[in-house]
Amino acid sequence: MDKIVSLCKRRGFIFQSSEIYGGAASCWDYGPLGVELKRNIKEAWWKTNVHQRNDMVGLDSAILMHPKVWVASGHVEGFVDPLVECKACHQRFRADAVPADKCIACDGELTPPRKFNLMFKTFMGPVEDEAATIYLRPETAQGIFVNFSNVLTTSRRKLPFGVAQIGKSFRNEITPGNFIFRTREFEQMEIEYFVKPGTDERWFNYWLEERFNFYIRLGIKKEHLQLRCHGREELAHYARACYDVEYLFPMGWGELEGIANRGDYDLRQHTAASGRDLNYFDEETKETIVPYVIEPSAGADRSTLAFLLDAYDEEKDKEGIRVVLRLHPALAPIKVAVLPLSRNEKLLPLSTEIWNNLRGRWMTQYDDAQSIGRRYRRQDEIGTPFCVTVDFQSLEDNAVTIRDRDSMKQVRVPIKDLASTLAAKLSGEPFEAGEHR
Ligand SMILES: [Zn+2]
Repeated sequence: MDKIVSLCKRRGFIFQSSEIYGGAASCWDYGPLGVELKRNIKEAWWKTNVHQRNDMVGLDSAILMHPKVWVASGHVEGFVDPLVECKACHQRFRADAVPADKCIACDGELTPPRKFNLMFKTFMGPVEDEAATIYLRPETAQGIFVNFSNVLTTSRRKLPFGVAQIGKSFRNEITPGNFIFRTREFEQMEIEYFVKPGTDERWFNYWLEERFNFYIRLGIKKEHLQLRCHGREELAHYARACYDVEYLFPMGWGELEGIANRGDYDLRQHTAASGRDLNYFDEETKETIVPYVIEPSAGADRSTLAFLLDAYDEEKDKEGIRVVLRLHPALAPIKVAVLPLSRNEKLLPLSTEIWNNLRGRWMTQYDDAQSIGRRYRRQDEIGTPFCVTVDFQSLEDNAVTIRDRDSMKQVRVPIKDLASTLAAKLSGEPFEAGEHR
């Protein structure tokens, strides 16, 4: 983990928030490469779950919602952690995270646990009174439930269908930590998949498999993933069943995504609290039903951390240790780097021409500083799948060299075939050394 945190800072993936003021605890900013990586993860999720399916639509709902939403959803009453405070040093802990009744910092006596609501409160409008109190959403899910009828009527959906959303959520965690694993501001990738009651178990199992395989398709090693079933005592107040997709982080197995069968809890609660019908009329059976919902809910920040950790590799070579991020090409922040062999001005026109032709299509980088070996290393360390090298021979034979990040093999290709060759290799065609097209 220390290696990843250091690489993230050194290469511009992730910075401590407000660092020049000493840092804001457990808040992180995504730098130039981190924002590309995280966007690619969200893009892969959106493509898989929205664009490539005919039973899913997207939504982007507001972070600030009517306060009654959180009463109806059960969050005002039930979204709490037991909090204890040390009577001596006044540090606060989650009651279930400290042993017995002694402070882990100073051995002082602890107060009895009290309920601590994890929702962030703020004020809507200029008057700071109780009536104007609202919450930053602790999950994106409720934005989907309160829009159920809007989506149903405007998109003319039939069950089963899903609504997908990516967005920020906020939880005032008592003990955040482990880099971007647990933070108070985080980004979720959530699906609410509405089904007919009675088919919910089948769809629940379907989504378990679907979501587990998503991470494997994007390169996470299977032995670093597991599905864990929640015990009865662990289930959230709304859930009939829940599994976590867990990743083997350096600190142990941790949740990447929760997949829950929420039953008809949310739609019923909002129907009762709002007085608006959130039913579904089944044209075939002429019945009015309240759909059940299966919820695969993933963390974009945790996924980013897992993909970084899983991709990190060190290799011994003749110059010492080669650090390489073996990121899936779809996730790599930079897909192609264009590297002229040297800064000789004869290479400049052709190199920039090649760069300009590629950059409209992929996220690319142009680098002519330092030796070619050093530049390959820099690209390996940030996970760039392919480097294109322009040398003096290129001026004669109109060909360039493509170097593969993982095998370090090189092939020479005519410049006219460069884009199509890169496209094939970025979509998974094996890399054969010495191959000509
Ligand atoms: Zn203490």
